[in-house]
Amino acid sequence: MMTHETSDTLQYPVEHCATCDETIDVNEWHVAATDCSSDGETAILSFCCKECRDRWKQE
Ligand SMILES: [Zn+2]
Repeated sequence: MMTHETSDTLQYPVEHCATCDETIDVNEWHVAATDCSSDGETAILSFCCKECRDRWKQE
């Protein structure tokens, strides 16, 4: 019999969609965009889906 162990101690950073605030499982594929603000700081934004990234780009 096979036992599949799941560990609760594994800690992954939890990302939230920059558009809809949906929680993103960072183990899965997700969309990211680089936000270059006017003061020269670069931020990596995460999105739950392509649609949310497109919505963010339109703003
Ligand atoms: Zn989203």
